[in-house]
Amino acid sequence: MYDMIVIGAGPAGISMASEARAAGISPEKILILEKAGEHSFSIKKYYPDNKLVTANYKGFEAACTGVMCLVDSSKHETISYLDRTIRENSITVSYEETVFKIHKHPAEQRFTITTDRGSYDATVVVIAIGILGKPNKPGYRIPPSLRDLILYDVTTTDVAGADVLVVGGGDSASEYCQYLVQKGNRVTLSYRRHDFSRMNDINRQSIQALAERAQVEILFGSNITAVKDASGRPAVAFGEALLGSRTYDYVLYALGGTTPRNFLKTIGIEFDGEDPYVKEAHETNVRGMFLIGDLSAGTKGGSIIWAFNSANTAMKRICREYLKCSAVPPAAKPGPR
Ligand SMILES: Cc1cc2nc3c(=O)[nH]c(=O)nc-3n(C[C@H](O)[C@H](O)[C@H](O)COP(=O)(O)OP(=O)(O)OC[C@H]3O[C@@H](n4cnc5c(N)ncnc54)[C@H](O)[C@@H]3O)c2cc1C
Repeated sequence: MYDMIVIGAGPAGISMASEARAAGISPEKILILEKAGEHSFSIKKYYPDNKLVTANYKGFEAACTGVMCLVDSSKHETISYLDRTIRENSITVSYEETVFKIHKHPAEQRFTITTDRGSYDATVVVIAIGILGKPNKPGYRIPPSLRDLILYDVTTTDVAGADVLVVGGGDSASEYCQYLVQKGNRVTLSYRRHDFSRMNDINRQSIQALAERAQVEILFGSNITAVKDASGRPAVAFGEALLGSRTYDYVLYALGGTTPRNFLKTIGIEFDGEDPYVKEAHETNVRGMFLIGDLSAGTKGGSIIWAFNSANTAMKRICREYLKCSAVPPAAKPGPR
C-alpha cells in the first residue's frame, strides 16, 4: 500500500513526489508511473534543443511557492534539474508502465491502480499526465501520403534547408520559427489572428525581429482550409483569396495539446464544460484524486512553474486531509542551477 501514486513523470509529477518527500513521506511510500521510457518526455520531445526555457512562459508570473523552482534556463539545465530532483529525493519511477484503470474503493480511502504490468494500491492518486500526449490537430483531413511531411514537433524529423510552414501563434510557434531559421530553413508562419497577444515578450520580439529581417514571412489573419498532396508535397489552401494555395516541404503545427478526456472520464472525473472539474487545491470530484500541472491549468495552458506550484498546493491539502506529514515543506529554492 503506497501513500501516494503519481501518474506521469513530467515537471508536475516529479515536483509532486518531491513535495511529498519534503513533507516527510518516506520514499518507499511514493511511486511514479510513467508510460515513456524516460522522465520529462514532453520536454524532451517538444522543446527545440537550443530553446531558452523561460520562467514566465505564457506570461505567467515567475513566482514559486513550493520546493521546486525555475529561472530562465537551457533545455539541458531544465532536464538535469528534474533528473537531480528524482535522484536526490530517492524517488522511484517505474518507466514504460501505462495506467489503464483507477478504481476508488467506496468504503475506504484506497485506490487500486491497474497498469499494463500489474496493480498497486494507494491512499492518494495524483494525475500529472499533461496534455501533450495528444497534440491538437487541424479540423481538415490530411492525406495519409503526406504523413511524414506533416509535423507536430521539431525533434522527430531533422528539417534543414527546406520550405516550412509553421501554423500557430503562441510561444511554441515563435520558438519553432526561431529554431527552423537557425537550421537554414525558409519559414512562413500562418496565424489566424492579427497580433501575437498570446506570446511572452521574448518570443514576440524574436519573431518580429525575424520578420523585419525577412527571415520569416508572417501571414496574419490567414486561415487554412485544406492540405492536399501536390506531387508528394503539401499544398496548403488558404481561405483568403489573396493567399490562394501555396506548396511547402513541411507543415509544422504548433496548436497545443488536448485534455485526455476519455481517460479522465473513465476513471470517474467529472467535467465542467471542456475542462475537468477541480475543486480546492486541484482535488477532483473523487476524494483523494488530484489533477495537477497542465491538466489543471484550463484553456490558457500551463507552464513549468505552474506545474511546480500546483504540486505544492495539492500537497498542503493532502497533508491536511489524507496523509500523516511529519515535516513542513521548505520554501522554494532559487532555481535549477
Ligand atoms: C514547444 C513548447 C515549449 C514550451 N516552453 C516552455 C517554457 O519555456 N517554459 C515553461 O514554463 N513551459 C513551457 N512549455 C510548457 C511546459 O512544457 C508544460 O506546461 C509542462 O511540461 C507541463 O508539465 P506536466 O508535468 O503537467 O506535463 P508534461 O510535461 O506533459 O508531462 C506529462 C508526463 O506524463 C506522461 N504520461 C502521459 N500519459 C501517461 C499515462 N497514461 N500514464 C503514465 N504516464 C503518462 C508523459 O509521458 C510525460 O512524461 C512549453 C511547451 C511546449 C509544447
